[in-house]
Amino acid sequence: MTSIDLLVHGGDVLTVDAAGTVVPDGAVAVRAGEIVEVGPAARLRAAYTPAEEIDARGCLVLPGLINTHTHLAMTLLRGSADDVTLQGFLERVIPREAALLSPETVATGTRAAVAESVRAGVTAALDMYWFHEAAEEVARAAGWRLLTGPTFMDVPGPPDGRPYADRLGWAKAHLAAHSPAPGTRPVVFAHSAYTLAPAQLTAIADLARAHGALLHLHAAENATEVATVTELHGMRPVELLDSLGVLGPDTLLAHAVDLSDAEIAALARTGTAVAHCPVSNLKLGCGIARVPDLTAAGVTVGLGTDGAVSSNTLDLLGALRLAALVHKAGGDPTAVGAEQAVRMATVESARALGLADQLGSLEPGKRADLIVLDTGRPHLAPRHDPWSTLAYAATAADVRDTVVDGRLLMRDRTLLTLDERQVVDDLRTAAEAVPVPRPRAATTRPSDSAARPSDEVRA
Ligand SMILES: [Zn+2]
Repeated sequence: MTSIDLLVHGGDVLTVDAAGTVVPDGAVAVRAGEIVEVGPAARLRAAYTPAEEIDARGCLVLPGLINTHTHLAMTLLRGSADDVTLQGFLERVIPREAALLSPETVATGTRAAVAESVRAGVTAALDMYWFHEAAEEVARAAGWRLLTGPTFMDVPGPPDGRPYADRLGWAKAHLAAHSPAPGTRPVVFAHSAYTLAPAQLTAIADLARAHGALLHLHAAENATEVATVTELHGMRPVELLDSLGVLGPDTLLAHAVDLSDAEIAALARTGTAVAHCPVSNLKLGCGIARVPDLTAAGVTVGLGTDGAVSSNTLDLLGALRLAALVHKAGGDPTAVGAEQAVRMATVESARALGLADQLGSLEPGKRADLIVLDTGRPHLAPRHDPWSTLAYAATAADVRDTVVDGRLLMRDRTLLTLDERQVVDDLRTAAEAVPVPRPRAATTRPSDSAARPSDEVRA
């Protein structure tokens, strides 16, 4: 008998390995944060003496979901910029961020986001936001896997008060001082080709490469962005990034909704990955990303929620379901299938982050990030096919246990590393300290605004 830290046993284990192996009445053995074996429960129970156990009978056990694009502390602004275009959204959110954000409020917003994510079975996220050090500290204290790093966005009066000219030096010092924990890697965030100049984008890409960091940008989110970038630089956003040498296997683009065929070919040629955010894209009226074309071209596509202002929740299972549905709208029900959607939220998300050797499936040698989904409820019965259950029927509320790096963060729907009531109270207090201004149109042109709600944001 070998001593281990944790044995999850008795459920059907959906490994999400390359063969799509499902182990009925299976088990996962974990030691020092790593998966040591996956196999039949009877055999693993006889082989190992665990310090802790999870009885998963009647449940599905699967890899933790990975959110490849979010802005966690935007939970502070949830519900404050709905039913507007992307440009209207930015117009509202950026000034409010300047008024609201500090290391303390970012910590508060991130803590709430981590609590929400753990409940939703999300075990890791790529988080682009101001005061990333505060978010890092929150995630570390909660035992949650966060990939973050310095953000570049050349806007007047950035919320962190750091002038653009100082940011390269600051980011360099940060990257030099941090060695990534297992299951993470350094990250550099360049907001987009419409908030950064070409020379800035290349300097940031060089910095990321020098530190072996993932480079993450927003790109081609909607037609207005494409028009803006084309007018400024004579090229579409992805064309511009390609011409600057910013694309590559360590570059991940969020959204990539409005792409030409040539841009899809450029992503495939350079090995650039995409973080697909269907909820945010639909809510902001951006359109539907060409995911079937991207995957057919060989582009890695992971799944993201985006921040809680543009998607309102961090429910990645909800995004998974939408990803499995929305691409069928053109008439092809095979466009994105159930298994593909589940892979997108797990192993393909890990691949998009460049961490597929450590995350995204339940296989020996990988980090022990897993969730237990209670399938004993009416809406999940019978269970003919676990991929179908996950893609089309399961909800975030069905997640019962969440494990990150071998540590239980939620057991029987109770959070173990966060005081949930306190987290929610603190979020309310911080958000209410800076009230949401009434929309301009509602105060100045009440009759017009009702008829044409989006006029004000098209300026
Ligand atoms: Zn975003």
